Amino acid sequence: MSYVFPPPPPVAVPIAGSEALFPVRRVYCVGRNYADHAAEMGADTREPPFFFSKPTDALVPGGGKAHYPPATNDLQHEVELVVALAGGGADISPATALDKVYGYAVGIDLTRRDLQKRAKDKGQPWDMSKGFDQSAPLGAIQPATLVGHPTSGSIWLAVNGELRQKGDLAQMSWTVAEIIANLSTYVTLAAGDLIFTGTPAGVSTVWRGDVLTAGVAGIGEFAVSLVDAG
Ligand code: MN
Repeated sequence: MSYVFPPPPPVAVPIAGSEALFPVRRVYCVGRNYADHAAEMGADTREPPFFFSKPTDALVPGGGKAHYPPATNDLQHEVELVVALAGGGADISPATALDKVYGYAVGIDLTRRDLQKRAKDKGQPWDMSKGFDQSAPLGAIQPATLVGHPTSGSIWLAVNGELRQKGDLAQMSWTVAEIIANLSTYVTLAAGDLIFTGTPAGVSTVWRGDVLTAGVAGIGEFAVSLVDAG
C-alpha cells in the first residue's frame, strides 16, 4: 500500500499544561445560539439549533497569525466556546452528553459576511463564507478534568485592544449537552470532533493588520493577527 503523494499531516490542537496534542477529526459549528435578550429565551420559543461545518485544516491551532482571506470586503469575527470530544456516538442523550467531552477552548469563527449574506439571499450553501482557509483560529484546549463544564462566565473578543463582543455563556440558547445530543441525531460523533457553539452579540468587521484577542472565563484567552497571505 502506498500513496500517490504524501498524505497531509494530522491537524492537532495544543492542550493546556500538556505536551500531548488533541488530534482533530471534524469541525462542526452551531449557526446561532445566543438570544438577543435573555428574557426572550422562553424554552418554547427556542428554534432548534442548526449546524454547518468547516474543513479540519481551516483550524489555526493556538492562534498566532492567520491570513486575511481573499474575495471579501467584510471579514467578521465571532468568538465562541469550542467543545472538544473524546468520545462520540449517535443519538446521544443530553444526560450522558457531557461524558463525551474532553475539554474546552476559545475559538473564533471567522466569516466572510458579504459572501454569507449573498448566499442567504440566494439560498446557496455557506461553505465559501464560513469554511475558507484559516477561518477557525482557536486557543489551547483545557481538559474538563481541570476546568469542569462551564455554563456561565464571560465570553469576549477585542480588536486591537478595543472590546467588541462581550457576552456570557449563560446566554446560550442551547447548552453544550443539548447541542451534542441534537447534532448526534444527524451525524455520528467521534473522538476528535470539535464543536463551535455560537457567538454573542457584537460581531464586527476586521481588516489586515488587526489583532484579535478572545477569551472565555475559566478557559483562557488567545490572540491572532490577520496578515497578508503573500
Ligand atoms: Mn459562528
